[in-house]
Amino acid sequence: MNAIADNLQAVRARISRALEAARRDDKAVTLLAVSKTHPAAKIAEARTAGQHAFGENYVQEALEKMTAAPDLEWHLIGPLQSNKTRVVAERFQWVQTVDREKIAKRLSEQRPAALPPLNVLIQVNASGEATKSGVSHRAVESLAKAVAALPRLRLRGLMAIPEPGAPRERYAEVRAMFDGLKSQFGFDTLSMGMSDDLELAVAEGATMVRVGTAIFGERQKPRAAA
Ligand SMILES: *Cc1c(COP(=O)(O)O)cnc(C)c1O
Repeated sequence: MNAIADNLQAVRARISRALEAARRDDKAVTLLAVSKTHPAAKIAEARTAGQHAFGENYVQEALEKMTAAPDLEWHLIGPLQSNKTRVVAERFQWVQTVDREKIAKRLSEQRPAALPPLNVLIQVNASGEATKSGVSHRAVESLAKAVAALPRLRLRGLMAIPEPGAPRERYAEVRAMFDGLKSQFGFDTLSMGMSDDLELAVAEGATMVRVGTAIFGERQKPRAAA
C-alpha cells in the first residue's frame, strides 16, 4: 500500500473507534478528504484507496483537479465570493460554506437545470466570536428558511469549524443548533471535525468529518485565496 492508502485506513479506524465509543452506528460518518494544496496525483492515490468525496478551499485550484477527475464528488469548503458562484454552481456537488442569503440565491439561480439541486450546508459560527466566519446562533434559523425555499438548492445541514483547542461545549453547542433545526428542515448532515479533533466532533454527533493533514500530510503554504 502507498502512504495515502495507509493514512486513509488509519483515519477510517479513528472514525470507527470514535463511533463505537459514542455508541453510534458504524456507518454514521462520511469522510471528506481535504485535498487543498495537494496535487492531482495524490487525489488519484486516495481514489484508488476507495475515497470518493474531496474537499477544496480555492475555486480555481479545485477546477483544475476536477478536470482530471470529474466523476469524484467535490465539496467547496472555503469562503465563496459572489463573483465565483456561477462556476461553483456548475461544477461542485456540495457547498459547505453558505453564510449569506445573497450567495445562496445566486447559487440557486446559476445551478444548471440539467444537474440535480446543489447540496448546501450553512456554515455556523462555532465560537460565538464576531471575528470568525459563519452565521451566529441567532441568525441560523432565518437563513435556513431562506435557503430551504430556493428551488435549485438542497439544504442538507450545518458546517462548523471550532477553533483549535476548543472545549467540548463548543461542539455541543453546534450539535444543539443542528438538533434544533433537524426535523424542521430535514437535515441529515453535520460537517464538523478535522485531523486534530475528529474524535470530539464524532462524540458530539458529526455526520461528516473533513480531514486533510492526516491523509495527505502537511500542506505547503496555501496559494492566495482564489
Ligand atoms: C483545511 C481544512 C480542513 C482540513 O484540515 P486538517 O487539519 O488538515 O485536517 C477541514 N476543513 C476546512 C474548512 C479546512 O479549511
